[in-house]
Amino acid sequence: MKKFYIQTYGCQMNQNDSQRIARLLGRIDYMPTESIESADLILLNTCSVRDRAEQKVYSALGAWKQFKEHRDGVIIGVGGCVAQQEGETLLKRMPHLDLVFGTQNIHKLPEMIEEAQARNARPMETAFYRDPSYLEDAEGPARVQGGKAFVTIMQGCNKVCSFCIVPHVRGREISRPSWRIIGEVESLAHQGVKEVMLLGQNVNSYGKTMPGEINFAELLGRVDQVDGIRRIRFTTSHPQDLSPELIEAFATLDKLCEHLHLPVQSGSDSVLARMRRGYTRDEYLRRIEGLRERCPEISLSTDIIVGFPGETEREFGETLELLTRLEYSEIFSFTYSPRPQTVSAKLYNDDISEQVKKDRLTAVQSLQRGISLRKNRERIGELESILVDGRSRLKNGQVMGRTRGNRIVNALGAEGLLGTFQTVRITGATANSLIGEILF
Ligand code: SAM
Repeated sequence: MKKFYIQTYGCQMNQNDSQRIARLLGRIDYMPTESIESADLILLNTCSVRDRAEQKVYSALGAWKQFKEHRDGVIIGVGGCVAQQEGETLLKRMPHLDLVFGTQNIHKLPEMIEEAQARNARPMETAFYRDPSYLEDAEGPARVQGGKAFVTIMQGCNKVCSFCIVPHVRGREISRPSWRIIGEVESLAHQGVKEVMLLGQNVNSYGKTMPGEINFAELLGRVDQVDGIRRIRFTTSHPQDLSPELIEAFATLDKLCEHLHLPVQSGSDSVLARMRRGYTRDEYLRRIEGLRERCPEISLSTDIIVGFPGETEREFGETLELLTRLEYSEIFSFTYSPRPQTVSAKLYNDDISEQVKKDRLTAVQSLQRGISLRKNRERIGELESILVDGRSRLKNGQVMGRTRGNRIVNALGAEGLLGTFQTVRITGATANSLIGEILF
C-alpha cells in the first residue's frame, strides 16, 4: 500500500477537508503516515485568511523538493485557499510540484493523482461549482475520533466583509441539501459518534441560497432528533444572521451545547463600518442580550482584529470596553493583514505600524486573560459533564475533554475513557483550561 503525508494549515474547515482527503485517499489504497520521508504522496492543505500565507506555502514547498530528489515517484500536491488563489503561478514557480487542487475540487483528487502518476501532466483544478453535489463524498470509515465528527453543511460566504479573503477563495455560499446532512449525521451516530460539529464559513445563513430548503434553526432541530447524537455544536456564525429562531434553538434544543462563537471583530461603529460587517455595536450587544436572556448559561467566544486601517486609540478603546462588558469566555485575536483581492486592501493604506498592532494585540490578550481566568475560577467546585476526546497536552496520565460550554478540562484518567462522557468536579483553573477530577 502507498503512503500519504498531509500537512494542514488553518481552521477547522481545513482540518475537516484534510480528513475528507484522507478518506478519499483510503479508497485508492493510500494509508496515512506521520513520516514525510517515507511518503509516496505529500500534500499541503493551505489557508490564506491571514498573515503571509503565500510565503509560508512557497517556503514549505521549497523545502520539500529534497524528498523528490531522494526517492523516485514521490508526488507533491497543494490544495486549499492558497492553491485556489495562486493556481497556475504555483506550478510555474515550483517545477517539482505535481498537482494543484482548489477549495471545491477535493473530490477530483483521486483522478488527479492518477494523472500525475502517469507523469504525462501536472493537473490543476480550481473551478467553483453552483451545485453542492461536489461535497457529497463524505461517507467512509475512520471518522470517529473521540466520539466527535465534523459535518460540512455549507461552503463559501456571501458576506462582503472588507478584510476577508474567504469569498474569493472559498466561493459563494452553497448549502448541502438537509436530507443529505441528516443522512450523514444518522450514519455517524451508527458509527458511534456522539457529538457533531456542523461546519461552514457562515453556518447560520444555511439554506438561504437554496429555494425551498429549511433554515439553520430548523436544521438544528432535525439534527437534535437523531438518536445516538448527544451534543451539537457549530461554527462559524455571522452576527447578522443570529436570528430570533436561532436564539430560541439555544433555549429549547436539549442537544445544542451552550456555546456560541460569534465574531464581533471590533467594538467601534466606525471600524465596523469600514470593515463592512453589516451591524453596529449596539445591534450586536442587543442580540447577545436577547440570547443571554433566553439561555443564561450560554458561553460566548469571538474573533477580534486589531490595527484595522485607520483604527484610532479611541476606536481601539471601544473594543477593549466591549470585551470588558461582554465577558467572553474565550477570544481569538489577530493583527490586521491586507489580503489579496479584498476591498480593504484596495481602499485603505495599511497605516497602523506593526509595533502599534502588536501592542494592541497584547492589550487585548492580557485583558481577556484576566476575564477568562476569573470566569474559569468561578467554575471551581462545580460538576461538569465532559466528552473525553484526547490525551491532555499537559501531563502524562491525563485526558482532556470539553464541557457543554466548550471549556477544556484536563483530568487524571486512562486512554480507555476516550469517546465516553464523564462527570468531573472542577478543582482548579487557568486562563485557558480547567482542571477536574473524574467522579467514577
Ligand atoms: N465567518 C467569520 C466572520 O464572521 O467574520 C470569518 C472567519 S475567518 C476564517 C476567521 C477570523 O480570521 C475572522 O473572524 C477574523 O477575525 C480573522 N481575519 C480574517 N481576515 C483577516 C485579515 N485580513 N486580517 C486579520 N485577521 C483576519
